[in-house]
Amino acid sequence: MQSHEEEDVGLEAVQGALQPIWDAMLGHRDVLTSPLTPGLSALIIHLVLCAPFFLLDVLACVCPHVHSYQISKSTSGKRVLRNWSMTLKRILVNYAAVIVPFTAVLQSLTSPWFPLLAPTCLQLCVHVVLCVLLFDLLFFAWHWAMHRFRWLFLHVHLHHHRHHPVPIALAAQDAGAAEMLSQLLLALGTARLLGLHPLSEAAFHLLNSWLAVEDHCGYRLPWGLQGLLPRLGAGAPHHQLHHRLQKGNYAPYFTIWDRLLGTEL
Ligand SMILES: [Zn+2]
Ligand SMILES: [Zn+2]
Repeated sequence: MQSHEEEDVGLEAVQGALQPIWDAMLGHRDVLTSPLTPGLSALIIHLVLCAPFFLLDVLACVCPHVHSYQISKSTSGKRVLRNWSMTLKRILVNYAAVIVPFTAVLQSLTSPWFPLLAPTCLQLCVHVVLCVLLFDLLFFAWHWAMHRFRWLFLHVHLHHHRHHPVPIALAAQDAGAAEMLSQLLLALGTARLLGLHPLSEAAFHLLNSWLAVEDHCGYRLPWGLQGLLPRLGAGAPHHQLHHRLQKGNYAPYFTIWDRLLGTEL
């Protein structure tokens, strides 16, 4: 049986598990506060998260086992390469012209908050889950509005729906400048609204990027949201149906809001 002292040491270890990571980050404040960091890190993270799906898309053209995980039939290898290269070009232009300059200005205007203590693992998990749930609700409302009002659809959202009927992972960030900015503000606003610790905020943005990529990847993966949370998680099948029918299934990550408001497909 553990003594009280051993239990206290164990508890401190759990509470302080994130402290070395946060201390290391604090040691690079100049990098964290650089105007280029937010935009460039978002782009690099997106490309790294998408890279395995590029390989899967290429493999799916020749490998029946990979193909069996695809929600829709794969197209030819030539079309896969063309789709990925065209989407990549648009994303790079969008980042260079809009996202990196916008986040650089935002970074220069806001004063950074660097608390000495890291959050506990429990705090970080609670913060991230709350943030994802709130983002899911706000994105649901914004996405519904972009489909409900024709002007918004044509001038803001239509660019993203060029990925029809089947999106690719990269498409998670292939949208017009206005929609990209609105999504960025939605994610930043959600984190600020909940007053997240900077480390929790970074974890939220990382998870948010992954979930958006997974939504568009085109694969029914066992570890996808729909596999991990049956009935509750939306994931790729839910969002792919939205791209195919261009309506309904407006929430990105969970099925709650679409089910409650009658927009589930
Ligand atoms: Zn989409
Ligand atoms: Zn849509």
